[in-house]
Amino acid sequence: MNRNQSELLFSEAQEHILGGVNSPSRAFKGVGGGTPVFMKRASGAYFWDEDDNQYIDYLGAYGPIIAGHAHPAISQAIQTAAENGLLYGTPTKLENQFAKKLKDAIPSLEKVRFVNSGTEAVMTTIRVARAYTGRDKIVKFAGCYHGHSDLVLVAAGSGPATLGTPDSAGVTKNIAKEVITVPFNDIEAYRATLEKWGDEIAAVLVEPIVGNFGMVEPAPGFLQQVNELTHKHGALVIYDEVITAFRFMYGGAQDYLGVYPDMTALGKIIGGGLPIGAYGGRVDIMEKVAPLGPAYQAGTMAGNPASMSSGIACLDVLAEDGVYEHLNHLGEMLEDGLMKLARKHHVQATVNRVKGALTLYFGSETITNYDQANATNGEQFSIFFKSMLNQGINLAPSKFEAWFLTIKHTEQDIIKTLEAADYAFAEVAA
Ligand code: PLP
Repeated sequence: MNRNQSELLFSEAQEHILGGVNSPSRAFKGVGGGTPVFMKRASGAYFWDEDDNQYIDYLGAYGPIIAGHAHPAISQAIQTAAENGLLYGTPTKLENQFAKKLKDAIPSLEKVRFVNSGTEAVMTTIRVARAYTGRDKIVKFAGCYHGHSDLVLVAAGSGPATLGTPDSAGVTKNIAKEVITVPFNDIEAYRATLEKWGDEIAAVLVEPIVGNFGMVEPAPGFLQQVNELTHKHGALVIYDEVITAFRFMYGGAQDYLGVYPDMTALGKIIGGGLPIGAYGGRVDIMEKVAPLGPAYQAGTMAGNPASMSSGIACLDVLAEDGVYEHLNHLGEMLEDGLMKLARKHHVQATVNRVKGALTLYFGSETITNYDQANATNGEQFSIFFKSMLNQGINLAPSKFEAWFLTIKHTEQDIIKTLEAADYAFAEVAA
């Protein structure tokens, strides 16, 4: 496959844009280097690059594109919004409509606020939790990504129940000291953390189904126990549903699992492809936010008509009959096919899947936490990734990311993908 234009554009990009990319995961560092593909057009489940090669896309823009690229209803909604004026700086009816839609779908959102990204949404829930509890510390789970605010770019300390250390240059030690990181699915480590720091902890941040070291489900009872322990110690439970909301059903992962947080952060899918974030939760907590309360949060672009229109249109598409059944059916086909091919080629592999989102790990262990995901074979993933790309299958360039199906993928796309995977596994095995 000729990708000369991508090569040229990447050289040019590196002259002007730091690292040639505007988000580090787009560089191919996670797959041993290489040239990112410059896409120029996308429609449904497909991409076309600058050399006119066609790809079946499983990146889904890291999650938002569940309705497929350039969905006509979403494109039309954005066009109408643009014609009516892109940004007012006043309240609009669209914000009411969208807030009501989110509340109807995710009932724990007694009140909501719109922001511009998942990062902002999570960052604000932390501020609000601190304002509500009068405490400073937060707990998060190892390997979970919650955006790039200082507060969550903190790595685990030297053992369970130790304070964190900065995970990025520029994050101060003082900030890191406010964050405790414990292994996901390890309720004893969480209990020990609360026993040690319980009266200083404002909130725990939870991806109820993890999307950031592959798709990892909570062990039975884990989230219920997190809720019980957290509340017992007077802290709040925040769900980061930036990846998970509307991914497995029309509603949140909390509705899918039947366990409910005090506050929720949203993003990705709810914008239908435009920048968005939202947060919400119990009304007595949300009342801490300005203009009603002392916790400040604002945004020039927050609740802008284009993002609202795009989000409403996207949720309308997702509310149609059969959407999640289709995603699940194709997910099942893909999982079964990948596992059969791995066995055929004697490659150790395992798939974690929830409906239309899955991760293929190279290793034999069941993946329930970050250490296990980290121990999977990155070199084999890189070979697989590059082979798939060269055969026109676009995956996320990291062994930790998920494959996201869209409602536009077809059985035929899965069959083609599995044909490519047959060859890719052979290359891994060679
Ligand atoms: N939370 C989770 C679970 C995410 O996966 C991400 C992004 O990947 C974020 C928060 C940050 O969202 P954004 O990239 O919109 O700032």
